[in-house]
Amino acid sequence: MLQDKDRIFQNLYNDGDSNISGAFKRNDWLNTKEIISKGRSWIIDEIKLSELRGRGGAGFPTGLKWSFAPKEVGSRPHYLVINADESEPGTCKDRDILRFEPHKLIEGCLLASYAVNANVCYIYIRGEYYFEGQRLQKAIDEAYKNKLIGKNAANSGWNLDIYIHYGAGAYICGEETALLESLEGKKGQPRLKPPFPALVGLYGCPTIINNVETIAVIPTILRRGGKWFASLGKPKNTGTKIFCISGNVKRPCNVEEEMGIPLKTLIEKHAGGVIGGWDNLKAVIPGGSSMPLLPKEVCETITMDFDSLVKEKSGMGTAGVVVINKDQDIIKCMARIARFYKHESCGQCTPCREGSGWMWRMLERMAKGEASKDEVNMLMDVTKQIEGHTICAFGEGSSWPVQGLIRHFKKEIEDRNNFNPLVKKDKNIPYLVDQHLLDKT
Ligand code: SF4
Repeated sequence: MLQDKDRIFQNLYNDGDSNISGAFKRNDWLNTKEIISKGRSWIIDEIKLSELRGRGGAGFPTGLKWSFAPKEVGSRPHYLVINADESEPGTCKDRDILRFEPHKLIEGCLLASYAVNANVCYIYIRGEYYFEGQRLQKAIDEAYKNKLIGKNAANSGWNLDIYIHYGAGAYICGEETALLESLEGKKGQPRLKPPFPALVGLYGCPTIINNVETIAVIPTILRRGGKWFASLGKPKNTGTKIFCISGNVKRPCNVEEEMGIPLKTLIEKHAGGVIGGWDNLKAVIPGGSSMPLLPKEVCETITMDFDSLVKEKSGMGTAGVVVINKDQDIIKCMARIARFYKHESCGQCTPCREGSGWMWRMLERMAKGEASKDEVNMLMDVTKQIEGHTICAFGEGSSWPVQGLIRHFKKEIEDRNNFNPLVKKDKNIPYLVDQHLLDKT
């Protein structure tokens, strides 16, 4: 368990002061000038040493990402873009950073902007976080007033301007290239990669995009050293992480913990345990709705880090832990998630646009026991036709939860859909047609 002395976010529950005076007391903005004076390579090397991996979902090494930005500024300016479009169901960690620890993020923006040669930083916030955006703007104004950003920021000789941009509530704008499109004033649809944003990003210029939590931990890492951060957690899965625990637990919460903490400890110690007791646990979604669920047997021993979760065919994602107990209908839960993805697909790729709707309709019928038993394998087949065949990772994000359900609860689906007279009566009825349409024929 994480000790208090190693806690980065000391005001996560807003029991202190989120204004700049409170931030100073928590050592934010301490020695910022001295850190910058150590130079770009030192900063990037220190972040590489810390083994920090992106906290937005993909877990890409942050220091490595920064090193992709051109070393010198050419004819095109560089940009830093902060992804605050937190839209993954089950996730609300960035929200608490924006409203309770905004100065950690702003100082991180300055240090990261300097490291990647950017004089302008955009923070893209989901439109629903209107009050969080207002709170952040107040903190940005405080930082300008105290000459911590703007011209000669924190007396470092570096200039930095920070702008907030509100999204309009589309999940896909959390995908980095869709975010850039939206920031440019276009429809938020992902771009084909390559080229990658580090070379051709916002307005065709080199752009580094990082999640809120990733940037907010940067100042503490640089103050306490990359080695300190790497000493927490496990190799390649280092540091601390804010976990969001929700669903059928007694005390849903956000908590900063060490990477690699056992999932069971996280649920029992911090969230008060599963409603109805541990034995009433059915499954856990460990990293936001796009990550495959884990059945109770796996939850007994699994640790919460990138590599352990991948080994179990799931993922750390955003660390949005959704607990599902036996009082829930697991097929219905997954049908609801599938409906969300069907609604949020941007529609550019046929497998995603059509497949997300197929998966939702099939799951709805399976939840009601109106499907044919054979359709379970067909549904798995549909997920495989989506996965890996799309422009962006949304294809995987929509099909993985369905794969997780079939992988661990196939028998439950089959038992409920053991007999379907309609499908048996006429083999020519297309299996993807909704039951209510069949009723009308
Ligand atoms: Fe859009 Fe889906 Fe294709 Fe991503 S995978 S670009 S969300 S259609």
